[in-house]
Amino acid sequence: MTSRTWFVTGAASGIGYELTRLLLASGERVAATSRRLEPLEALATGYGDQLWVAALDVTDAAAIRRVVNDAVTRFGRLDVVVSNAGFGVLGAAEEVSEEVLQSQIEVNLLGAIRVARAVIPHLRAGGGGRIVRMSSTGGQVGDPGMSLYNATKFGIEGFYESVAIELAEFGIGVTLIEPGGTRTDFNRHLVLATPIPAYENGVLGQIRGMLTGDVDPELLRRSVTGDPAKVARAIVDSVEVSP
Ligand code: NDP
Repeated sequence: MTSRTWFVTGAASGIGYELTRLLLASGERVAATSRRLEPLEALATGYGDQLWVAALDVTDAAAIRRVVNDAVTRFGRLDVVVSNAGFGVLGAAEEVSEEVLQSQIEVNLLGAIRVARAVIPHLRAGGGGRIVRMSSTGGQVGDPGMSLYNATKFGIEGFYESVAIELAEFGIGVTLIEPGGTRTDFNRHLVLATPIPAYENGVLGQIRGMLTGDVDPELLRRSVTGDPAKVARAIVDSVEVSP
């Protein structure tokens, strides 16, 4: 693998964290961003100039532009951008509060669009590169209780299908990654809507019971079989084989 500069959002845990570790171990340069910095700062030991860490909340459009510009100043260029930050909301469409609805769209859809808008000029100026967006099987198939999450993942797939055509002539490729259930902090960060009784005897009630009921959390965690390190490996491999 030749040494390139990667920009990663949501790098503090799960897939983003495993990806950052893998890239550093492979000799790549990484601008790793997240709201939480401690897990990333702990990685810095031993990687010196390879790793640059910055706080970034992807709901802050001005901060996205500033941090992207700072990363380019720090490393001189960007080659691969992994737009990974995201979280899920569990609840029927009518159960989710207006505040949570807005947050879901802000992070997973608008945040991802804003990251793309901020990095594209730099990739174009650098003569090309690749943007990888973390979608999900939920970007292809709807899941009960995840309608808003599904809406963001379907939405971002539409955005990137269009953008991929716009960027091809500049040598900028786009990759959508669609993992299934992966053992990360995703379920711990899942926002639960306040249930209304009408749903409790149906499929959503059962899903909710499994996630929040009297189930050993470790057992639940282990029942999700996807390995975040393998997803990270797949991201790197997808970049290697892309034209
Ligand atoms: P994690 O919860 O472990 O990681 C999510 C990351 O997103 C965290 O590092 C978090 O960091 C960051 N994040 C959340 N909100 C924001 C925000 N407003 N601004 C910046 N960063 C934010 O879960 P995963 O690693 O599983 O999730 C990574 C991606 O993979 C997501 O897009 C998710 O939708 C997708 N995915 C996950 C699957 C799974 O089963 N785990 C399956 C399919 C797709 P911090 O809180 O520090 O900002």
